[in-house]
Amino acid sequence: MDGPSGTGKSTVSRRLAGACAAAYLDTGAMYRALTLAVLRAGLDGADPAAERIALGAVPNLQSVVDPDAPRILLSGEDVEAEIRGPAVTAAVSAVSAVPAVRAALVARQRTIVADAVVDGGIVVEGRDIGSVVVPDAPLKVYLTASEHVRAARRGAQDRKAGRTGDIAVVLADVRRRDRLDSTRRTSPLQVASDAVVLDTDELSVDDVLAELLRLVRE
Ligand code: C5P
Repeated sequence: MDGPSGTGKSTVSRRLAGACAAAYLDTGAMYRALTLAVLRAGLDGADPAAERIALGAVPNLQSVVDPDAPRILLSGEDVEAEIRGPAVTAAVSAVSAVPAVRAALVARQRTIVADAVVDGGIVVEGRDIGSVVVPDAPLKVYLTASEHVRAARRGAQDRKAGRTGDIAVVLADVRRRDRLDSTRRTSPLQVASDAVVLDTDELSVDDVLAELLRLVRE
């Protein structure tokens, strides 16, 4: 499941995984957790030393792939709440543009997928899943929505998590990350040629889930 921020990817991916008794992997959380390690080392995402810190943190990551309670641990600490905050959100695109960081995480993601496939399947969400991480996935979906709808959804999510969720600020962040994520040199956000593209502007979460379940059964 690929697509930009605010398309409802996480919500529908979790629900799809739950409905199919499959595992769920949020690859964005992995990039966010490495970014948190970089920030905790006192660096910003674009610092040349960020690569070393991020790569050093890869072995300390642990993804819990239960769709009912997905979490990411960094050296055993649950950092799920902290990685959603504005500092990590502002720095994550820079860290995820580093080719060695992507290579290390893609390798980890493929191992998690290979383990889960033996165990009943997995829904993986991110930006490069269909194009790079699992190019032979049996079903690839790319979710889209207009930037205003995405910003409104992100703002609502932020408010639910106790952050301000100011729409102008969220919209600016959505635009900035779209630009950085789609223009980076390594694995820019792109639609896999064999992905089903779903525009979710006019669709509720239940509508999207129903369509995904139909595609899974096909
Ligand atoms: O999905 P989420 O918004 O949490 O992802 C955070 C950031 O992680 C994205 O803006 C993108 O820079 C990066 N990312 C990525 N490749 C993925 C997943 C996320 O580059 N597969």
